[in-house]
Amino acid sequence: MTIARVALPVAAHTAFDYWVPAGLEVGCGQMVRVHLGRRALAGVVVAIGEATEVAGDKLQPVREVIAALPPLPPDVLAMAEFVARYYQEPLGLVLAQMLPPLSAALPRSPVAVAAVALTAEGRAALPLRVARAPRARALLERLQATDGATLGADAIAALTPRARALLRAWLTHGWVAPAIADPMPALPLPPLNADQQTAAAAVVAALSSFAPFLLQGVTGSGKTEVYLAAAAAAIAAGGQVLLLVPEINLTPQLAQRIAAALPGRRTVLLHSRLAGGERRRAWAAAAAGDADLVLGTRLAVFTPLPRLALIVVDEEQDASFKQQDGVRYHGRDVAIWRARQRGVPIVLGSATPSLETLAQAQRGRYGWLKLPRRAVLPAVLPALRFEPGRDPGAVEGLGTALLAAIEARLARGEQALIFINRRGYSPSLLCSACGWQAGCPRCSARLVVHRNDRELRCHHCGHAERLTRACPDCGNVDLMPLGHGTQRLEGALAARFPDARIVRIDRDSTQRKGAFVAMRESVHAGEVDILVGTQMLAKGHDFPRLTLVGVLGADNALYSADFRATERLAALLFQVAGRAGRALLPGEVIVQTDFPAHPLYRALAAHDYDSFAATLLAERRLTGLPPFGHLALLAAEARDRGDVDAFLAAARAAADAVALAAALAVDVYPPVPAGLARRAGLERGQVLVQSAARGPLQRFLPAWREALERLPGRRVRWALDVDPAGFS
Ligand code: ADP
Ligand code: ZN
Ligand code: ZN
Repeated sequence: MTIARVALPVAAHTAFDYWVPAGLEVGCGQMVRVHLGRRALAGVVVAIGEATEVAGDKLQPVREVIAALPPLPPDVLAMAEFVARYYQEPLGLVLAQMLPPLSAALPRSPVAVAAVALTAEGRAALPLRVARAPRARALLERLQATDGATLGADAIAALTPRARALLRAWLTHGWVAPAIADPMPALPLPPLNADQQTAAAAVVAALSSFAPFLLQGVTGSGKTEVYLAAAAAAIAAGGQVLLLVPEINLTPQLAQRIAAALPGRRTVLLHSRLAGGERRRAWAAAAAGDADLVLGTRLAVFTPLPRLALIVVDEEQDASFKQQDGVRYHGRDVAIWRARQRGVPIVLGSATPSLETLAQAQRGRYGWLKLPRRAVLPAVLPALRFEPGRDPGAVEGLGTALLAAIEARLARGEQALIFINRRGYSPSLLCSACGWQAGCPRCSARLVVHRNDRELRCHHCGHAERLTRACPDCGNVDLMPLGHGTQRLEGALAARFPDARIVRIDRDSTQRKGAFVAMRESVHAGEVDILVGTQMLAKGHDFPRLTLVGVLGADNALYSADFRATERLAALLFQVAGRAGRALLPGEVIVQTDFPAHPLYRALAAHDYDSFAATLLAERRLTGLPPFGHLALLAAEARDRGDVDAFLAAARAAADAVALAAALAVDVYPPVPAGLARRAGLERGQVLVQSAARGPLQRFLPAWREALERLPGRRVRWALDVDPAGFS
């Protein structure tokens, strides 16, 4: 009897055995449907054998082979096993994470896609076939007329029904394929400058072997052109390229540049916000080797790519590469593992590399490619000024110097960006009579005033209540919003500059689908004078008329207890500052701070990330924190503080026992409350484990996890986070 071992998406660290009915073709990597007890589940076959320990009457059959997806190739299965082992997650959950959703139906008409483009096969086959069919010839000419041969949604909608039917037929033949973007005017690609050429050549020379690179380039230095030049070479040599980006918001501009750099090549987009069918189609195109380039967020790292030749991780330092719930993997780190596994180069690009990556480059383990200059005029980086936020002329946190600088931009028809990393109106509401502050009933956090919606909201659990007029404790009606958020600044700027066109960009203002893209377009079109926003504005946007960046409230992050907070703040500020003066106009950055002498601000003024990174690295070395040590965090939560404390105390004792028994050099810290001690009604705590080397920690974790699974504590939810992003 053939037995299939199936990894199922359940919280169990074992696979399950099923017998394979005659006539079912089941191999490793195949998706199948089975029953677990009475539950119907989809899982992945991870082994085929002849024997099982499951008793004959308990053994169930494989119910169905899911043919909609091709089986996972061995290298992807091996990657899943690595992720499961490294992050201490059940293999079935890891696999479920890697696969595109099965449930969503395919769109009825394949032309219901945003855009289509000619494929290489189409280019070869169609000219002959349409020779004597005028309608088809006209359609082909339409496709060829656009550079990148892409037909956008509007153009498709405007076609006659017969032309659309033709397009559908061509899609089925594979002569056209869904493309990622509407046709945009193809950007003429600049010739690479000397630094870019050197960098691209180094990557190209390393194609076909494992070679990690740090590409460190100041903002505006043209890292993207280097990625694309290397990608073009890899694809020309018959390879596929995986390009990972932190956020999909970045991709429209990027998609346009890819189309220009890789004419006639097929790019697919993969991220979690795609409709299930779209994601499945893109995944299948990559897995079949049809797509030349996969552009995606962290989950795209798991895409099967038979001809993989190059991996690029843009903004490699970005925190969003780390998944914070479910399977807590780090997309960049998995990408590095995969590059090694497949023997291909990987380029980690950043203006502000993570300390992990920087340390590897310094040790000579990664090739270190540098783009020290901006690629476009003005070749100079913006000038920085530090100004106090509290001066007598300040208006709602906007100091006199900043107000004057904004005024000057308005007079010259240039744009200003005001950055504050806080959405809402003000981060708290205070009673000036008795000292009451509006707090979340479910979290140990303050409620944020959202004046536009007349609400108080918790940014941790989503709790919302009506904005109160009177203090619930003393009845005082003079409640004071304390501190500044984007809404408040927007209001203050509108009052101060009534003729200016102001746009606020934060998570609240961009909730509607397409809102962010529309806003960015209007900034580009010069329809906006002042932008106010959070870190959504910091990355990847090139606004040619933007010449002033004002930074407010950055000092707050200097006091954070999180060991990565200053590193993050540094990356963010270097990025924000890099938004000023990207095209022909010189830029200026004004940072409002009470600590202008802080090493971070001094480094920012000198455009010298490396010196600040060196300071941070020295601190990390002293404290044994990453990259000089390795961490795992056990986070637990429960209704009762007592349950959390008891569980964590037992967890710590178990950890000590495991480390002692195996003589492993790991340090186990006493349990502490989490940074946010209560969230959504749950008390939270954590135990940190630290080790100087990865080996002992990796040997320690499986044994500790098994011990944790045996601990009593039904009322406690817990999770292990390997290489945690921070202590939250
Ligand atoms: P980065 O990602 O390093 O911040 P980008 O790749 O976004 O920089 O490039 C910034 C700008 O410089 C883009 O508008 C790009 O078209 C332009 N650019 C890049 N390389 C060159 C070059 N060699 N010559 C002229 N302009 C360039
Ligand atoms: Zn009061
Ligand atoms: Zn809350």
